[in-house]
Amino acid sequence: MNPWYAKAAILVSSIVMVVIRAPHGQRSRRVKVVKSRKGQLENILLTLAWLGFFVPFLWITTRLLAFADFPLRPVPFMAGILCLAVGLWLFHRSHADLGTNWSITLEVREGHRLVTHGIYRHVRHPMYLALLLYSLGQTLVIPNWVAGPSYLVTFGVLFVLRVGPEERLMRDEFGKDYESYVARTRRLVPGLW
Ligand code: SAH
Repeated sequence: MNPWYAKAAILVSSIVMVVIRAPHGQRSRRVKVVKSRKGQLENILLTLAWLGFFVPFLWITTRLLAFADFPLRPVPFMAGILCLAVGLWLFHRSHADLGTNWSITLEVREGHRLVTHGIYRHVRHPMYLALLLYSLGQTLVIPNWVAGPSYLVTFGVLFVLRVGPEERLMRDEFGKDYESYVARTRRLVPGLW
């Protein structure tokens, strides 16, 4: 298969992602942050995730990563497109349900509410699940050993190191309500984990 199919898929899905996030991001930024746990580790993890997200564009626009190219095959490509599509749908759903309680980092905003409805009724971290699916989609779609898994690896590290502190922040903020939410939901996969 022509690698331009992969390049087009990555460009289109990234644009869709930005279009989904933009209005929610803008709305959240207007609500004051009243508590922040953005430490040094968070800064490093966010920078790493941004770099991981950027590497596929380097692959699309330059020959720098051509040494790690391999042939594009239809089966991983189609499986990747499915992951990207489901990931983007979940990304949209979780942003819609989280509303102005969303932050790019560990923060509590003025009037912050614990969201337990919509997609949050099924799992506690649907947005992270969305981004894991999306980055898995990139890994499958991009026929390059470096650009393919770059976002999956960097976002995976962010997820693993952030999920504990984020749940502690929510527990500190919402106490018993969060405890009972944790008792009836799983982190990423209903009924499993
Ligand atoms: N982990 C969630 C949210 C990601 S956005 C998800 O994957 O869907 C990160 C911010 O969302 C955190 O700083 C926290 O303040 C907020 N947050 C996380 N879970 C929340 C919930 N159930 N209700 C309200 N805010 C939440």
